[in-house]
Amino acid sequence: MISIQLTERQKEIIEIVKKNEPITSREIAEYLGLTRAALRPDLSILTMATILDAKPRVGYYFVQEPDKIDKLEKLLEVKVKDLQSHPVVVQENSSVYNAIVTLFLEDIGTLFVNDQNGYLIGVVSRKDLLKITIGDSDIHQLPVSVVMSRMPNIIVTQPEEPFYIAARKLVDYKIDALPVIQEEQISGKTLLKVIGRFSKTNLANAIVSHLLEM
Ligand code: ADP
Repeated sequence: MISIQLTERQKEIIEIVKKNEPITSREIAEYLGLTRAALRPDLSILTMATILDAKPRVGYYFVQEPDKIDKLEKLLEVKVKDLQSHPVVVQENSSVYNAIVTLFLEDIGTLFVNDQNGYLIGVVSRKDLLKITIGDSDIHQLPVSVVMSRMPNIIVTQPEEPFYIAARKLVDYKIDALPVIQEEQISGKTLLKVIGRFSKTNLANAIVSHLLEM
């Protein structure tokens, strides 16, 4: 990550350019009572940091607030683990009725389904449960595994994944939540342990707390 520590003179240059853009280096030098040569290192730092830009024969103009760049870089470093919430998991033989009760009790929209050994085998959403409930099935008897979406078609994320990659998955696959998983290698197979939940709600919280403060 680039850390931008501006000198007082560089900050002054930014202010001059903001007020007078487009402005030539000769004019900036005049404002500051300096020679153009003395100014050159500062101008090249400010253009390299994309705070200022220069158009040939036109002059310098202002592009971006340095602290905005810093904030943007910090935002891009936010990981799934910084936003995830605790996962709500049901067992595969748990009934559809029990799954619906769990949705209400936990106030969420997506449940993750584990096998007997505690590894992820599926995901069940509000509408999966609604669909089976409006049919003739006995939801007290029917196991949730019958209505869930199942592995290997489950879209997952990991704690270290940048949040915007996980957000992209929510959008691309038109789903509300991703299980945050940890892979385990068991007798040559990769099994997934659910350790968190990353949902559209987590994303909305991130927008409010990180983006709107920029
Ligand atoms: P709803 O269907 O309640 O609006 P979603 O949009 O999240 O909720 O789910 C749409 C469909 O995608 C459902 O059938 C659900 O089982 C499935 N689904 C939800 N999350 C995932 C996931 N992470 N991976 C794969 N399939 C999923």
